[in-house]
Amino acid sequence: MPISSRWSCEIPKCSLTTYLFESPTAVLDQEPLYIDSLNPEKFVSHHAYRSLVQRIASGLLAIGLRPGDRVLLFSGNNIFFPSFLNGIIAAGGVFTGANPSFTPREIEQHIRSSGPRFLVAHRNNSDVAREAAGNVGLDEGSVFTFDEGLDITADGKIVGWGDKSSPGLTRHWSDIVEKGYDGFVWRELRTDEELDTTAAINFSSGYAVPTTMTTGIPKGVQITHKNFVSNAHQIIYLRMQSDSVSNDTRWLGMLPMYHAYGQTYYATVAPKRRIRLYMLQKFDFGAFLMAIQRHKITSIAAVPPIMVALAKNPDVLKFDLGSVNRLGSGSAPLSREISREVEERVMRGRAGEERVNLKQGWGMTEATCSVTGFHPNDADEVGSVGELLPNCEGKVMDAETGTRELPPNTPGEVWVRAPNVTKGYYRNRAATEDTITLDGWLKTGDIGYHNEAGRWFIVDRKKELIKVKGNQVAPAELEGILLEHPSIADAAVIGIPHAEDERPRAYIVSKPGTAVTADEIREWVKKRAIRYKWITGGVVLIPAVPRNPVHHPSLSGKILRRELRDRAKTETSDS
Ligand code: AMP
Repeated sequence: MPISSRWSCEIPKCSLTTYLFESPTAVLDQEPLYIDSLNPEKFVSHHAYRSLVQRIASGLLAIGLRPGDRVLLFSGNNIFFPSFLNGIIAAGGVFTGANPSFTPREIEQHIRSSGPRFLVAHRNNSDVAREAAGNVGLDEGSVFTFDEGLDITADGKIVGWGDKSSPGLTRHWSDIVEKGYDGFVWRELRTDEELDTTAAINFSSGYAVPTTMTTGIPKGVQITHKNFVSNAHQIIYLRMQSDSVSNDTRWLGMLPMYHAYGQTYYATVAPKRRIRLYMLQKFDFGAFLMAIQRHKITSIAAVPPIMVALAKNPDVLKFDLGSVNRLGSGSAPLSREISREVEERVMRGRAGEERVNLKQGWGMTEATCSVTGFHPNDADEVGSVGELLPNCEGKVMDAETGTRELPPNTPGEVWVRAPNVTKGYYRNRAATEDTITLDGWLKTGDIGYHNEAGRWFIVDRKKELIKVKGNQVAPAELEGILLEHPSIADAAVIGIPHAEDERPRAYIVSKPGTAVTADEIREWVKKRAIRYKWITGGVVLIPAVPRNPVHHPSLSGKILRRELRDRAKTETSDS
């Protein structure tokens, strides 16, 4: 029998925009909501947030956005990012975000997969954006420069724009905002069909499709209004189970908002709960520590590499982290030892105070963001990712066949059914059908189990996905890059364990008569992929990649990654 969450909550049936702002005219407070961490005088209030969303939405419509059109935001976090994201959505458009450090090749791939009507690129990324837009034939009038120059008052009046130039690009984002107006009435969504309108496309390499050539490459996950509202509501509901949730919560906005984790917590949960969010434009560990101390951050939701740094980096001891009373980690497994070390360091010097308990959660892009978490008053349990969020069901299936449900404490593939689960991959029916069953179960590709008490444990991964510093690395994408090298005949990439999470390791077969070196291969990838995808787990030259035999001439057999993983365990150095 599948197990259901022990909580259930009524999820509002409305658009994400209404969930966040009640109505186009409701009175909203003017306290700081999104605050510039380096310059806290600069902020966006809840009132200004809606005003900007309304201006961006109506401005986008004025320049030709149609319902369902995608808008690609190619930027790091800043205090205006959530307004842009929600402005696109309020207009009936679809937000999609890309890592601001992507190479032209990667952003081109993103543009090709999502087909945006407009590309809005941060000033720092304008060269890459221009190159990519040119290569894919996106006309110049569709490309905008984004920045943090806007000066907006707490009651939503625009005072100035700073530098309005748009280097190399044709338009500045003020062109959108100034064509729009405060007071714009967004379209309300009521029926189930309307609530299933796509609001965002977030990329995930997701589930391995065993029979097609799309195996494990990044795919667009469609997140609907219902998905966003549900996940925000589920997360908030669980947090509100504690008497100790205060109105004085302060978060640090360092998780990227082009990813499900930052997006859900910062653009939906935080404003709904009126949590003050100090935005960090770029993650730097020193700036992160400084910001915690300076802004008396109370709660940190992070990823294992940040937790490892909190546990090990000596600089941590130079800062006062006494304000922090909640710690959460998700996106990859976190060891018990690191959790305890982080807790000790955060607790340092706080005699007699209640313990700060670091808790893990588990989730994925295909489920908007979060699937499990801990009741705020429960202590964590070794290695557990907590319980199912309200309104979620989960079950564990035989990982080989997917046909037999397994009893408690028996690892298998975790399947989830919940209102926050995607309706499917964008323009990829084969992958959707392989990932979501007809009766709505999401095959997560994670191996785990639950105990009798309903606590979940994630122990391995079935899908072809490597997690590096919280980011997804798709082996198939790296293999594609490697196979373009003139001296490489075949390639396989696997993830190997690392102190923080995982690192990509490449197995290479060179073409006869060529001599390719490990350094050359590493350089090849460095020129084509963002840093976290670099081959930092080693390069090994081998005579043949182990593959399943195939009987069709146009298909190469599936890579036997387990064999390579076993082999990696016995290898100690690069060859
Ligand atoms: P993403 O879609 O980028 O959020 O990645 C989702 C994947 O990250 C999951 O399917 C898991 O493989 C992994 N993951 C997320 N949270 C955890 C966790 N707490 N423990 C282990 N793996 C996790």
